[in-house]
Amino acid sequence: MPHPIPTEERNPRFVEVALPVPLQKLFTYHIPLGLADVMRPGARVLVPFGNQTLTGYIADFRSEPDPNSDLAEVDIKDIVELQDEDPLVTQEILQLTKWAAEYYSASWGEMIKASLPAGINSASERIISITEAGRDELSKRGSSRAAKWDFLELVANNGELSEREIERVLGNTSKYRISKLARSGLVSVQNRTVATKVKAKRRKVVRLLRTASGSDVSKPLTVQQQSVIAALETAGGEMIFTELLEYAGVGASPVTTLAKQGFLEVTVQEVRRDPLAGAQRVVHGDIKLTSEQKRSLDEIEAAMFTGKYAAFLLHGVTGSGKTEVYIRAMKSALERGKTALMLVPEIALTPVFSRRLQAIFGDDVAILHSNLSPGERFDEWRRIRSGVARVVIGTRSAVFAPLENLGLVVVDEEHDGSYRQNETPFYHARDVAVVRANRAGAVVVLGSATPALETFDNAHTGKYKYLQLQNRIGGRPLAKAELIDMREVFRRAGKDVVLSPALIAAIEETHARGEQTMILINRRGFSSFVLCRSCGESLRCKNCDITMTYHRADTRLVCHYCNYTVKSPKECPFCDSEFLYFIGHGTEQVEDLLCKRFPNLRIARIDRDTMARKGEMTKTLNAFDKGEIDMLVGTQMIAKGHDFHNVTLVGVVSVDTLLGLPDLRSAERTFQLLTQVAGRAGRGALPGRVLIQTYYPEHYALRHAVGQDFEGFYKEEMRYRERLGYPPYFVIASIMFVHGDLKYASKSAAIFRDSLNRANKDGKLRILGPAQASVSRIKNKHRQQVIVKSTNRRSLREMIDQALSEAETRGCDRRIVNVEIDPVNLM
Ligand code: ADP
Ligand code: ZN
Ligand code: ZN
Repeated sequence: MPHPIPTEERNPRFVEVALPVPLQKLFTYHIPLGLADVMRPGARVLVPFGNQTLTGYIADFRSEPDPNSDLAEVDIKDIVELQDEDPLVTQEILQLTKWAAEYYSASWGEMIKASLPAGINSASERIISITEAGRDELSKRGSSRAAKWDFLELVANNGELSEREIERVLGNTSKYRISKLARSGLVSVQNRTVATKVKAKRRKVVRLLRTASGSDVSKPLTVQQQSVIAALETAGGEMIFTELLEYAGVGASPVTTLAKQGFLEVTVQEVRRDPLAGAQRVVHGDIKLTSEQKRSLDEIEAAMFTGKYAAFLLHGVTGSGKTEVYIRAMKSALERGKTALMLVPEIALTPVFSRRLQAIFGDDVAILHSNLSPGERFDEWRRIRSGVARVVIGTRSAVFAPLENLGLVVVDEEHDGSYRQNETPFYHARDVAVVRANRAGAVVVLGSATPALETFDNAHTGKYKYLQLQNRIGGRPLAKAELIDMREVFRRAGKDVVLSPALIAAIEETHARGEQTMILINRRGFSSFVLCRSCGESLRCKNCDITMTYHRADTRLVCHYCNYTVKSPKECPFCDSEFLYFIGHGTEQVEDLLCKRFPNLRIARIDRDTMARKGEMTKTLNAFDKGEIDMLVGTQMIAKGHDFHNVTLVGVVSVDTLLGLPDLRSAERTFQLLTQVAGRAGRGALPGRVLIQTYYPEHYALRHAVGQDFEGFYKEEMRYRERLGYPPYFVIASIMFVHGDLKYASKSAAIFRDSLNRANKDGKLRILGPAQASVSRIKNKHRQQVIVKSTNRRSLREMIDQALSEAETRGCDRRIVNVEIDPVNLM
């Protein structure tokens, strides 16, 4: 359905285009003659931008150029190409991304791009060719070996080359050379659009129109033609072209002849790349809801019947059957002719879960997650866009899935950190989901065993309706958790120990009963840093302000921020002493210790290092599920979602490093992690036990996690947040200035701070910094940070935007600024 263009712009001559560049503005282009009638908001256009050609999105039309623009009308460039007549971006998503861009102080064009499957846009590349002047110049080369000549010769010999092709031969210094040679007229540079990276997959299909018997052709059919027709008849009248040739044992020509004679028809059909093709569909028996589940579902359904926006927090302990409630509510939305969207954390979208959803929803469901190939992702996305798929399950960016007529949005594990996009454009999918539901008049359900503090607060104030599932399915008790005071263990042993006697004893008992154990350490690698006992220096990454982690498997030090790797030194690089001391223990070391201590146990490790190979994770988890492994050691990757019925012991070797992070949410995250991991124990018929080793047993996050006391934790954490001026009491923005030159970053930060002071005349903002960020350097770039707090979200954003544009006029480099509203952490 084409959307009517607003009446006052009946004859638009210009379009405003949102471009995926980090600038918060739209760009004006001229509409070539005849195109105005077919252009719609949300359609993609190719436009010139600097010396590139970019794909942008039509945001608006105007009949006159922007009077405030300093661009003269004659300088406004034409659109190169209209890419879709039927807009790719729906009106709803166009408006939603606009809202998100404003809310997070991000670029609208970047937000739209983030909402689309990767690879859908065409890109442009620079094509270099040599000019007459260039050829003349080249004839003067003589015996010079300067790089310039190699460059000219390469281009001259090939006629024309893309920038990438040149780089492949001459290395990436050629970029600089291209501009220089173009300026002196020796080469010319043109932009060429390259085809889109992903396309719909098509194949030829042959359909039988009439059979030979009922025909009146004068010429009898050949043997080959007969076998083609016979094959089609056996197959029910239709076959894929290639399969037909194979089956009938013929070449293409009899098929072509038969088509010409009207026996059959050859058409091109789109086929779907199904991410779960060939997978077995699992069917679950019908489950009778518990009374708690039923009560929650009834409330959600009643809200859906009204057809208006409503928000729920479904707070249910692990294993209380939240997923069953989501699925029933989604079914109910479909029955009502509406569509449904469910967001899940990165790690929870396992093949098992996807298959379960397919068994329930069949071809109605589309699945979007980061492990799909670009082609699969594209196909799934188009099934949603065309209205074929009416249920979408996906990770973060699926919040922008182009479902129309939305009835229900579910955000499972709503507190999970993976909902936050950690690069530009920053956004929080859970918060966007709530706004999307609100604008669409849909119901949103946020579910968690450990809701985010902000979410729980919204339930307290009545902004969200509160639904609770207090009991585990089958009345299974929650695992009993205990703290092990490592100070005491240290005193007894007279030295640092990694595994306390209590934990060791518990592992032995568990194994003796034929049950399984999970051990959590929140660091990968062998030891978290290397210290010289002679001079006191620690070994740091040369690119980042971070200690390097020792990985013993390949005797290397690795920076977990930038992946910089060096061979582990035998001697201190500062003083040549050999007293290097490996401090802190990661998964590798703990696995090593456990293997030595328990040679009879089959032990496997799960972390980013061991799971680098595709499919490895599933393999290990399956083996654990089948009981082929006795103990699983790993990072938080093992903490979430898994349902192993024979695990009765969970040991947390150390959670103190997480607790000690200089971050406003470290207590909350520790509490959540411990609750999650504790939920892994005792999921079957056997009771579970959780042992947590710590040097800070008094910490309220640990105390309340042990007591499974969410309310108690919430109260104490809210006091702390209020005292320090943190969310939900204050809205926070982090403005990061990132540059290789510290002085340059500091200067921009100082100018911004100055502008912000001026914008903050009434003193409503609390401003901290500029100061170096807790991680002061990453990948060789210094990080200067200004933190701003306010009780008023709107004025916070407005003042930051105002200060940024003022600061820009006074020499603050806008390109090195990262604005993050509601940052998840402040590091
Ligand atoms: P949560 O999402 O709250 O952690 P799940 O939805 O995964 O809990 O449920 C835990 C287990 O209980 C699953 O194996 C699920 O199939 C089962 N289950 C859920 N609801 C019921 C029910 N009403 N009766 C029986 N089993 C149920
Ligand atoms: Zn030293
Ligand atoms: Zn580094």
